[in-house]
Amino acid sequence: MAEQHGTGQEAEGAERGVTGTRGEGSAELGEGVAEAWAELVDTARRTVADGLVVGTSGNVSVRVGDTVLVTPSGVPYDRLTPADVTGVDLTGRQVLGALVPTSELPLHLGVYRTTDARAVVHTHAVHATAVSTLVDELPAIHYMTAALGGPVRVARYATYGTPELAENTLRALDGRTGCLMRNHGTLTHGAGLAQAYDRTAQLEWMCRVWLTASSVPGMTPTLLSREQLAEAGERLRGYGQRE
Ligand SMILES: [Zn+2]
Repeated sequence: MAEQHGTGQEAEGAERGVTGTRGEGSAELGEGVAEAWAELVDTARRTVADGLVVGTSGNVSVRVGDTVLVTPSGVPYDRLTPADVTGVDLTGRQVLGALVPTSELPLHLGVYRTTDARAVVHTHAVHATAVSTLVDELPAIHYMTAALGGPVRVARYATYGTPELAENTLRALDGRTGCLMRNHGTLTHGAGLAQAYDRTAQLEWMCRVWLTASSVPGMTPTLLSREQLAEAGERLRGYGQRE
């Protein structure tokens, strides 16, 4: 995975291109699209670098106005350049680029249609995917559960890329900003890519903690009560304003 770091010219060209003058097509792009695409590509690369996905699995999207920028299907993230910007409207009609959007497009669009999300991150993170095969809800092992809106549910299994999977996932997301997807992975959303990504990282970390604690023979981890979670949620909402 480390090799992906400096694969050279595509990646460097991409970074230069965003702030530079590359590409005739950029003149047609709406305001903020080039910046949002650059951030999306960075986030997608980070999911690979941080071990949350392998290869081109997983996908990332960000909403700019009524356009949703999405990772294209099957293109390694270190090869994506500013010229590869891929976008659809909220009905899924392609409005930017020629690459085929991610196969999980129905999932991403479903989140934007039903929540106030501005960004969505979907991964196949190891510990989270393992937990999705064991329980219907991630046990409340840590107070960061509250940062996702409460105990994290596991969406029922359905074939990847199908409207049924989107439906099952939206049901599991009700009142939450993240969920697990059975035998598949994670989905989180947020007010921006950084927040959606951070929620995925927190969720994967919590799954790892629970798996670690619950695998000690003869021992059962303590869990937080609804009240303890609610109290943590209150504090988390005020977090950042106290400084
Ligand atoms: Zn997936």
